[in-house]
Amino acid sequence: MTTAYQLPAFIGGTKQNLIGGRWVSAASGETIDVINPATGSSLGAIAAGGAADVDAAVRAARTAFEGEWSRWTPHQRRKLLLKVHDVVLDHFDELALIETLDMGAPLARTSGLREWTSQVLQFFAGQTGAATVATAPNSLPGDFLTLKSLEPVGVVGGIIPWNGPLIGLWWIFGPALATGCTAVLKPAEDASLSVLRIAELLTEAGVPDGVINVVTGYGKDAGSALAEHHGVDRIAFTGSVGTARSIVRASAGNMKRLQMELGGKSPDIVFADADLDLAVPGAAMGVYTNSGQVCVAGTRIFVQRPVHDEFVERLGEFTKTVRVGNGLDPETQIGPLISARQLERVQHYIEVGSGEARLVAGGSRLTGDHAGGYYIEPTVFAGATNDMTIAQEEIFGPVATVIPFDDMDEAVRLANATPYGLAGGLWTRNVSTAHKVSRAIDAGTVWVNCYGVLDPAIGFGGTKMSGYGWKGAREHVESYLYPKAVYMNLG
Ligand code: NAD
Repeated sequence: MTTAYQLPAFIGGTKQNLIGGRWVSAASGETIDVINPATGSSLGAIAAGGAADVDAAVRAARTAFEGEWSRWTPHQRRKLLLKVHDVVLDHFDELALIETLDMGAPLARTSGLREWTSQVLQFFAGQTGAATVATAPNSLPGDFLTLKSLEPVGVVGGIIPWNGPLIGLWWIFGPALATGCTAVLKPAEDASLSVLRIAELLTEAGVPDGVINVVTGYGKDAGSALAEHHGVDRIAFTGSVGTARSIVRASAGNMKRLQMELGGKSPDIVFADADLDLAVPGAAMGVYTNSGQVCVAGTRIFVQRPVHDEFVERLGEFTKTVRVGNGLDPETQIGPLISARQLERVQHYIEVGSGEARLVAGGSRLTGDHAGGYYIEPTVFAGATNDMTIAQEEIFGPVATVIPFDDMDEAVRLANATPYGLAGGLWTRNVSTAHKVSRAIDAGTVWVNCYGVLDPAIGFGGTKMSGYGWKGAREHVESYLYPKAVYMNLG
């Protein structure tokens, strides 16, 4: 049952881009329809930005970077970030509702991001002193004074996907505001509304004109223009490997600094000594959360043979209890997929999986009450091997693949037999197993007896084809700065 919500006043009409403090339509006048994935109905339209809009935004960001903003003190930037924190949190109910309507995640999930948002903004507010100047000891002959400073890299181009813009945008705006950089953000064409509303709130909070700019549009138009633009010093990209490759090539023209946060096919290993009461729902929701549209989803579940059959049975039973529905329904655990295209992609993989392995639960599109929306049942395949398509390719839907193993060495070998290295998990009561396996998994984040926990002060990132660069923590802030040395001959 969907609770009646008052539609936020922000929803509806045609949204514009924020460029240099002004809201403007795309130079082409073109727009993109915004679809509610829970119903297939329209929520209005956004600007279909292209090269001309990106160029205007980059110029505005450059002007702001070289202007008054460059003289803001760390203290002023900290106060600004804390003000942004307060304004955003004051509007969080509205933001969560916009996100749910725009990309389908349950309101329980989007509202639950309030505390995380508070932490992330406080974290970046605490980092405004990172751009420092210090005297450095040197071993030069004569009388030299050496100063070493960290300087903001300049204009940052951010490109983010649709699976969690309410999270993704802070990984660009947070470090940019903390370090004195400026930014042009290109959100995904399928989910831009929460970013646009936050851009309004940033202006309200006092972010100076041109410091933060937003250009909506398709990746092939606005995204590629940003990756190619010589006025951009750094690209922070989150998305798929295929897009990352074209961005790496496009950015070579002016040697942009790059941060690449890409996909995954993460392993989640259940040892025979695990507490299955914890491991079954933990591993299941490690796949199904956000309808499986999570980069760190633990989609390859390796289960040690003595508990394999019991685990599969319990996972199947648990999966049938997961409530799929409109994100506005407080009972909903997982919402629709983002789009008809994504639904087709997931259905394709389910078809492939049915030919490769044994379908234990789910597998169907939900119709009836769900007609119009892009709903798919959470799905479990068992009897799989690690070389199957469903165990090697990122599906980005609520599809779990269970693979049996005999001992620790085999589990580690299979876990690492993937081109990706974003995350991994393991479930065990044995401390020695926990230490050995967490060290051996080739991934940026490993969870033991939990899954998906993230602390902005610790951060996360990937290895191998999952990309490079670290989000959160001091490393993230420093990647928005470059080191500079000044040698002074005092003799
Ligand atoms: P995608 O690569 O298709 O799109 C991501 C963004 O890139 C969108 O804004 C899109 O418009 C833009 N884009 C597309 N083509 C472009 C081009 N040629 N040049 C520049 N920009 C372009 O990815 P998606 O399908 O929207 O998102 C899902 C992917 O993102 C998955 O692989 C997922 O694992 C990954 N992801 C990774 C993380 C992480 O932190 N590692 C987080 C979330 C999602």
